[in-house]
Amino acid sequence: MIILRSSNRLVSASHSRLVTATTTSSIGYRNLPTSRRTFVSFSRSRKQTQDSSSASSKPSLRRDPGLTFTSVISDPKEVPGPEGIPSRSRQVQLLQSGDIQYDVLVIGGGATGAGCALDAAARGLTVACVERGDFASETSSRSTKLIWAGIRYMATATAALLNPSLFIKPIVTVQDFLGEMKMVLNCHNERRYMIDTQKHLCHWIPIAVPFTSWHVSPAPMGHWLFGFFPVLAPVVFKMYDALSAFTCPPSYIMTPSRTKTAFPTMATENLKYCAVFYEAQHNDSRTNLAIAMSAAEKGAHIANYVEITNLIQDSSGTVTGAHAVDRMTGKSFAIRAKKIILAGGPFTDDLRQMEAGEHNPAVRGASGTHIVLPGYFTPPGMGMLDYNTSDGRFLFILPWLGHTLIGTTDKKTPAETMQNPPEDEIEWLLNESKKYLSPDLKIRRSDVLSAWRGWRPLAADPHAPPGAPVSRDHVISENPETGVLFIAGGKWTTWREMAQEVVDRVANGTKCSTLGIKLHGGEGYEGNLAIQLIQKYDGMAQDIAEHLVATYGSRALDVCELSQSGQVTHVSGKRLLDGFPYIDSEVVYATREYACTIEDVLSRRTRLAYLDKDAAVKAIPQVADIMGRELGWSKKVKEQQILAARSYIESYAGRTPANTAQNTEDAPTPQAA
Ligand SMILES: Cc1cc2nc3c(=O)[nH]c(=O)nc-3n(C[C@H](O)[C@H](O)[C@H](O)COP(=O)(O)OP(=O)(O)OC[C@H]3O[C@@H](n4cnc5c(N)ncnc54)[C@H](O)[C@@H]3O)c2cc1C
Repeated sequence: MIILRSSNRLVSASHSRLVTATTTSSIGYRNLPTSRRTFVSFSRSRKQTQDSSSASSKPSLRRDPGLTFTSVISDPKEVPGPEGIPSRSRQVQLLQSGDIQYDVLVIGGGATGAGCALDAAARGLTVACVERGDFASETSSRSTKLIWAGIRYMATATAALLNPSLFIKPIVTVQDFLGEMKMVLNCHNERRYMIDTQKHLCHWIPIAVPFTSWHVSPAPMGHWLFGFFPVLAPVVFKMYDALSAFTCPPSYIMTPSRTKTAFPTMATENLKYCAVFYEAQHNDSRTNLAIAMSAAEKGAHIANYVEITNLIQDSSGTVTGAHAVDRMTGKSFAIRAKKIILAGGPFTDDLRQMEAGEHNPAVRGASGTHIVLPGYFTPPGMGMLDYNTSDGRFLFILPWLGHTLIGTTDKKTPAETMQNPPEDEIEWLLNESKKYLSPDLKIRRSDVLSAWRGWRPLAADPHAPPGAPVSRDHVISENPETGVLFIAGGKWTTWREMAQEVVDRVANGTKCSTLGIKLHGGEGYEGNLAIQLIQKYDGMAQDIAEHLVATYGSRALDVCELSQSGQVTHVSGKRLLDGFPYIDSEVVYATREYACTIEDVLSRRTRLAYLDKDAAVKAIPQVADIMGRELGWSKKVKEQQILAARSYIESYAGRTPANTAQNTEDAPTPQAA
């Protein structure tokens, strides 16, 4: 007997209408727990569950608000993949074929899931990895864009050590401290790996911490020690450098007058000095895509817009595969695998519900909002950290892609797909930033070009025996009844380490090789590539050349070749919009890198929607024309794609507040083809 478990919220295969159906409790099926937001329930016939091919006609889809907007059934025409990488169509064909029992099926294509796919494929395992939206469409595109080594964790670990508990429970307290410091050390190692091996994706960024008094009262982070941070900071940052074995650029201090030169927009009136330390910065969605493409290059069958709808269990309860639906065609199919890893980020519990029915939640969401302002609020090469905001949260003000990125907040709320950043958080970020910016500068609500929200997955192990040590970071847990593993929590910084740990669990005895892998675009990359592009492509604008290299690494040449080969009309690519370095041949290249919707291009393949909501809306028609031509969209599909992109981008806040529709039921839904 095969037991099929699914969630009971669903949308029709066409993603346009809600399908009304009933829940069955016949033998072989179980009544299913109600999801947080129930739309309607649906169940399959026994025949459908046993015959994977016939499971195709009426998939039961669990999704979150937002996905109904972005997935328009468009039956995209096959376009080739990037050189050396199969096309998306080919990947879906392979996943659909049913010929393979994979060693591992990874569910989720964020940083964690794509990382697992890469690690496992590089060990020679057969790997399937599916992502229901675009790669990085959830948390992994909404981070603060830092590959950080954990200055805050180092501080809290030290504070926890210098506490009365050191005398009451010395062994436990020291063990806790060492555990926390080990995590910080791992972050340093991972940051070094990203900076050294993935030069095309990451760079150093100095971050200034301004001090306006020598003692802070009340002490930040609830510990007397931090009251003295203004005097201790230079030493603390040197210790931080030491944890990287001094391989990072050295921390230093700036006098008020030096600060005025290096960071002209910072308020210096009461400034005593600034301590400056370094972290790494990246374009998170690009790094995620590079990981996914590298996994494909290593042989993983990986595809975006393929959603897992149910897990398949054998009579002993072991999960042996999953039902999936290709959201671009509506076709359902089964994927068989020996081991299954859930990497659903803040949505991991939704996946666990498919596997284990009622369960103790393992993942809580904590939402974080960012705002983006024009670039002139920060110097291009330096950011700022406020470690002592009005409510104790850290606040970063960073230059990013020619703009100013300010974030983040932290609020425990269940995860959603749509951005809908709350207005009060935007106001909070603006008010906190004002304190540090020169009084002659106005920072106004209308300066907010874009704002978005992401959900951090905070994880706890539901299968840990009582008294087991609590994880400080990510959690890897295996359900002993079903054999399914999940991995959740952690940080962008530790994606590689997390993948290594979980794949070690499913492929004991094989050796992880990701430390030696240069991600997609890293092969043959070297520092002067932007100049070479300018010289090769006859006067290409410098900002375009620099943007292409920072985004695609050595693959920037492939992007330019698309212009040269006449597939787009302008020799070195035509700007999508004045004032941005994005060019039309990038849209063509994005379709090769599996972009399926206009929103993919505007939110993650370029970052237009993240940088400037109004600009993203303006670019929709042009992106639609290029994608429509490449992917063979009918007129109707193109119209639906445009509507879907507009609806989704409405959920970002811009100069005006976001569309605050809290779920898809409140908002217009594009019709299926
Ligand atoms: C506001 C904020 C700022 C942050 N800043 C930083 C930072 O600066 N540095 C840092 O190191 N970390 C940062 N983090 C943490 C970091 O972003 C996350 O730890 C990381 O992105 C989590 O990746 P993930 O793959 O686990 O989750 P996600 O990126 O959410 O990926 C999970 C994926 O699973 C998919 N999925 C779910 N259900 C299904 C299904 N049924 N079928 C197929 N796919 C499915 C989802 O669509 C999703 O794409 C930040 C987090 C937040 C929220």
